[in-house]
Amino acid sequence: MNSRRDFLQKITASALALPLLSSFKSENIGQPYDRAYEGPVLRVAIMGLGGYGTRVAEAMQTCKYAKLTGVISGTPSKIKDWQSKYGIPEKNCYNYENFDNIKNNPDIDAVYVITPNALHHSQVIRVAKAGKHAICEKPMSVNAREAQEMVDACKKANVKLLIGYRMHFEPKTLEIIRMRKSGEFGKILFFQGLSGFTIGDPNQWRLNKQLAGGGAMMDIGIYSINGSRYMVGEDPIWVTAQETKNNPQKFKEGVDETIQFQLGFPGGAVASCLSTYSMNSLDRFFLDGEKGYAELQPSTGYGPIKGRTHLGELTQPHTTHQTIQMDEMAGIILQGKQPVVPVDGEEGLKDMKIVDAIYQAVASGKKVDLKL
Ligand code: NAD
Repeated sequence: MNSRRDFLQKITASALALPLLSSFKSENIGQPYDRAYEGPVLRVAIMGLGGYGTRVAEAMQTCKYAKLTGVISGTPSKIKDWQSKYGIPEKNCYNYENFDNIKNNPDIDAVYVITPNALHHSQVIRVAKAGKHAICEKPMSVNAREAQEMVDACKKANVKLLIGYRMHFEPKTLEIIRMRKSGEFGKILFFQGLSGFTIGDPNQWRLNKQLAGGGAMMDIGIYSINGSRYMVGEDPIWVTAQETKNNPQKFKEGVDETIQFQLGFPGGAVASCLSTYSMNSLDRFFLDGEKGYAELQPSTGYGPIKGRTHLGELTQPHTTHQTIQMDEMAGIILQGKQPVVPVDGEEGLKDMKIVDAIYQAVASGKKVDLKL
């Protein structure tokens, strides 16, 4: 009977500290570092040391349950900087050619993929094949087929796949979800999501179809897609969409500048959303129900998020989103915690199915039915 030995070989060193998990508490997240905490910590390698990777690394310095222990980058000088800033040993540093060797590194539990969108698919699959949990930035891929393959690969490798949906842990957002679930808005009738900013440098990867997979929809419109689902509390059953392109030099074929889209929900609610790379100050969610409303503006920026409902202003305190996200993800991976709003690969896959349907509705001019 090898089952016990097999089990012990499969679990990571951090998971061996499971008896200490009782000290793992959500209310401690974001509080000053507690030296008394000696329980398991999720040891994370960040892949892609760009703008957002840098933000996540900085936020992780105040995590209690997650720690940056490795890096994967194609730029040796960045690796050196991160090594000295975060005390990362040489043996935990990889490049894009050799990171499959992470399989043999017992000091890394999970890899957080923070590279251009079109790279997520192959990189997450390699992480899964190396036997490490994958955390992947949004959009998880550039279409639903790829997203499904990522979900399947992680299932096959018996590792978790989580998507960087930081708003799923944001306190004001969670308060609106709590109110909606307890019926305080009554029957939900309408959601409006406005997601956009004016994008600069025309040569950046976000405006390159090969690396971005699309345009504003992939990058920022996805917040309204995902937000409509957690605000309304249902998955949409149809979509219609219209595209406007005012600057075809900057926004080439396959790179959407502005798309308006509408979603229909099984309970009868409708959503009206705007995704754009050509307008500023668009970061607003509005939810309307028979008995009340909720409003967030800004709704998905790095915060502080501001909001109110028909009962008054939302006053939950701001905590750095990426700090809460990584601490909560440590709980999900190490302890099997269930978040209020899922952040797993299936959740990301649903959004990619909606993205596919939006592009299909733009191309055909027709209503597209959704089965999520
Ligand atoms: P960025 O351009 O600042 O960084 C991307 C990194 O990937 C760079 O370090 C770059 O060197 C590296 N890279 C590796 N291979 C590359 C290649 N072939 N071409 C170009 N760069 C390559 O971008 P970012 O803003 O950090 O975005 C990275 C990912 O994070 C995207 O998927 C984006 O949607 C996501 N993101 C999420 C949030 C959020 O709030 N959740 C915010 C910003 C970005």
